[in-house]
Amino acid sequence: MSQKTGQQVYNLTLKIHRYDPDTHRSWIQEYRLEAGRILRFVDLFRKINEEQDATLAWNSSCEHGQCGTCSVKVNGKSLLACELLVENAVQYFNTTTFNIEPLNIAPVVRDLLVDLEKAYERLDKVRPYIIRPAPALSPGEEYPISPHELEGYVNATRCINCFCCASACISSHRTFLGPHAMLAAIIRVMDPREQEKQERLKILYSDQGVYRCHSSRACSFVCPKQIDVAHFIALAKEGGITRKR
Ligand code: SF4
Ligand code: SF4
Repeated sequence: MSQKTGQQVYNLTLKIHRYDPDTHRSWIQEYRLEAGRILRFVDLFRKINEEQDATLAWNSSCEHGQCGTCSVKVNGKSLLACELLVENAVQYFNTTTFNIEPLNIAPVVRDLLVDLEKAYERLDKVRPYIIRPAPALSPGEEYPISPHELEGYVNATRCINCFCCASACISSHRTFLGPHAMLAAIIRVMDPREQEKQERLKILYSDQGVYRCHSSRACSFVCPKQIDVAHFIALAKEGGITRKR
């Protein structure tokens, strides 16, 4: 670490996974750069593009932790690159060297980009939207959800589809749809506006479902929205998601 005009500057080494789809070659490329303490990792990627290597491919959209497109693995931890500040990363990982890889949730398209269409296939299986809406109490009105009912699952609705939990999941069972898809199915079972519960329950308790989870809590640990994913999966395992609240 050095000081420049009173501002702390870190000398970082980023070892980034590269993949060229034309030659099918993959390798680790090392970049050395100076960075201020409040730069985010997306800023570092942009800095590399501007100053060293325009060919490095990565993904981002909102860069405010709301769209889930900049997820990567940094020193093995799945996280949002737009939320990770240099100073926090140095403190958390106790190093200035960072290994950066794409999430292992689908085939890599190039460098840090994964095929999101493939990644969404697992989520699509649980149809994460309301299929058969419950009728409103009177025509033209919205369906009311009581605060008590909402309290049971409102945290889960903060999911931004970043796939960090799916990437961190330790269950290697090939049929398991993963924590992200399980959470989406559980939300619709707990949502009083949804009348089609059976379809989701069938998937949740199938060989693709919650019993493939080993309760490690790795999914909860990495979730950038602090959703206790493993808690919801545990609740589903013991039948708690269908109990009247
Ligand atoms: S608690 Fe279950 S779903 Fe979550 S990471 Fe562990 S095995 Fe995967
Ligand atoms: S549950 Fe959390 S980690 Fe998993 S996809 Fe949603 S926001 Fe990301």
